[in-house]
Order: sequence, then structure tokens, then C-alpha cells
Amino acid sequence: MRYHRIPDETIRRLPIYLRGLLSLSAESRHQVSSQGLAEFLGTNPWQIRKDFSYFGGFGKRGVGYDVGKLIKQINRILKLDVGHKAALVGVGNLGAAILSYPGFKTYGFDISAVFDINPKKIGKKINKITIENISKLGSLKRRKIDLGIIAVPGEAAQETVDALVKAGVKGILNFAPCYVTVPKRVKVITIDIALDLARLPYYM
Ligand code: NAD
Repeated sequence: MRYHRIPDETIRRLPIYLRGLLSLSAESRHQVSSQGLAEFLGTNPWQIRKDFSYFGGFGKRGVGYDVGKLIKQINRILKLDVGHKAALVGVGNLGAAILSYPGFKTYGFDISAVFDINPKKIGKKINKITIENISKLGSLKRRKIDLGIIAVPGEAAQETVDALVKAGVKGILNFAPCYVTVPKRVKVITIDIALDLARLPYYM
């Protein structure tokens, strides 16, 4: 099922709701009201109800939400229910940290291939995955890898993005601190913790 006219902000919040619901589920809480979920997440119940209304609303008045069902529904909306394979490009300080982060598995992501340009790194294993030559990126489609994660220096970001697009990936998480361009059919999300830090002093 494809949902139309859902604001990006709502899509941005769905994984936050999902994370909260997974925590509640781990605490064996099977039912939660929008008020309860909002308190757990530090947000507003009306925001949650509004976001869920785009998908027809998930709860029952007076009863609240079934945590397990809601997890399934959000997973389906975000297309996390099918599992995704990702390739990481750039195995330096950040790339190695990304690879050792267990959080990706929670959402069904499997970083199943890693690439670098440095001959000293190629062939070595990191977290049981062999680092491959960047020239082998063309194998992604055959290996059913549809996501790319970029942790290369800024100067190499655009060429890396271009190579990933050519290799058939549909989504790219870009950690390089620069703007990159892609065809419309591909979605890029750029993450820079320095940008978040840069707006913190304003509130102090
Ligand atoms: P690093 O120098 O330790 O690692 C970069 C790796 O990329 C190296 O292994 C290098 O061989 C490889 N590489 C370079 N060009 C390549 C290419 N064309 N193809 C494949 N591999 C290539 O750097 P780092 O500290 O790990 O940082 C990596 C990137 O992440 C930088 O752009 C940095 O600015 C950025 N960064 C972002 C955040 C964030 O919050 N988004 C945080 C830290 C670092």
C-alpha cells in the first residue's frame, strides 16, 4: 500500500514512535494511549494522533493502541518489514564506528558489504565483513543491496554517490559534510552531528 500526501515531518517522526514502541514492547507493555506514548517519548499526544491520522488512525477510543500491531503497521509504512541490505563506503574512523553499531539491526538493516579505496584496507576484515575494492561496487544489484552509507571525505562524496546510483541503490545515507546531487528516483539523507551541535548554543 502506498500512502499519499504524508508530510516529511510525519515520516521523520515515525521511526521515533517505532523506537518508543519497541522499548514499550521490551517492557511487556501491550497497550498504550497516545498520552502514554507521548509521555514516554517526550512529545505531544495530539501530534501523535495527527501523524497517525494520515494512515487512518491506529487506535481505539478509550482503549489506545495495541503496541504489537502498531509496531507492525509502522514497519510496513516505512517498508522496514521487508529488511534491507546496505553497503558502507569508506571504512575510516566513522565507517568503523558505524559498522560496530548494533542499532541498525533493530530496524532490519544488514550492512552486508563494505568498500574502500585504500589498498592497505582492502581484503582486511572488519566485524567479519571483508573490505572490498571500491571498483567492485557494480556488484550491488546482483547482491540485492539497495541502500548505501557514505563515510568518505567530502571531496569523494559526489563521485561515491554517483557510483552507488549507477550500481542501482535507491537510498543513500550521507555522512560526508556536503551537499550531493542524485536523480529524482534516489533519496539522499545527509546527517551531520556538527550541524545539530551548531544550533545548540542558540538555545543556551
Ligand atoms: P577517515 O579519513 O578516517 O576515513 C575515510 C575513509 O574513506 C578512508 O578509509 C578512506 O580510505 C576512504 N575513502 C576515501 N576516498 C574514497 C573513495 N573515493 N572511495 C572509497 N573510499 C574512500 O575519515 P572519518 O573520520 O571516518 O570521516 C569520514 C567522513 O565522515 C568525512 O567526510 C567526515 O567529515 C565525516 N564525518 C561525519 C560525521 C557526521 O556526523 N556526519 C561525523 C564524523 C565524520
